[in-house]
Amino acid sequence: MNPKNLDTYCQNTWCPGCPNFAILESVKRAISELIEKGIPRENFVFTCGIGCHAKIFDYLNLNSFYGLHGRCLATAQGIKLANPNLKVMAFVGDGDTYNEGISHLIHAAKRNTNITVLVHDNRNFALTVSQFTATSPKGFKGSSTPNGSIEESLNPLELVLSSGATFIARGYAWKIDHLKNLILKAIEHKGFSFLEILQPCITFFDNRQFYEERIYELKSPLSKEEAKIKISEWDYSDGEKSKIPIGVFYKVEKPTFEDLVLKN
Ligand code: SF4
Repeated sequence: MNPKNLDTYCQNTWCPGCPNFAILESVKRAISELIEKGIPRENFVFTCGIGCHAKIFDYLNLNSFYGLHGRCLATAQGIKLANPNLKVMAFVGDGDTYNEGISHLIHAAKRNTNITVLVHDNRNFALTVSQFTATSPKGFKGSSTPNGSIEESLNPLELVLSSGATFIARGYAWKIDHLKNLILKAIEHKGFSFLEILQPCITFFDNRQFYEERIYELKSPLSKEEAKIKISEWDYSDGEKSKIPIGVFYKVEKPTFEDLVLKN
């Protein structure tokens, strides 16, 4: 199917050049391929939180639910439990899910609920003009931290690995084909799939050069021990020196929450 068939009539209000455009394109290509493989278009449904990322609700022509700030994973889990045949995706932002909704993230991973979480991580609350988030690096200067954030950055991949996620990957917004393949793998995984997308915010935190000088592609698969090492290789606190691995870090098969609940 032509990815353009997933377009909508809505006017796009992302900043010109925002990497959200690249994420949207990767998502459309991945879903078009899955539709061609035989998954009915009406079986895809997505939720989103609040933030620049969430405007994807207007630009992606699929069944969707625009939820509350940070609560998108609760909605996604409810949808999946009500109809396990659906392919349920949750588009979230870093502030949205690592600040407002972090308990939902931990528990969804712990349950191994069969949904796909795609994090547009631009490392600030961009929609409300650049307050710092859990993944803003130490020293980040935004509207709530004009002298620089004093906090260390959270490593979300470490968090979801220890919480029980059964698929963990990281992509980069401007590597569109690579990202499309990660999205395909994440959606096809049976269980909680987590995809962190490095997404520069060209208006408030333009770290394109930083990423592009450091990113390299992982050779998968990795054992859990290898995944732990790779995941802790970079967390922005020692960012000047580190290389940044992207790709699939971890994948394992386990019973899903829906399988266990619905067989009882
Ligand atoms: Fe993209 Fe940043 Fe503009 Fe939001 S503020 S649309 S994340 S460039």
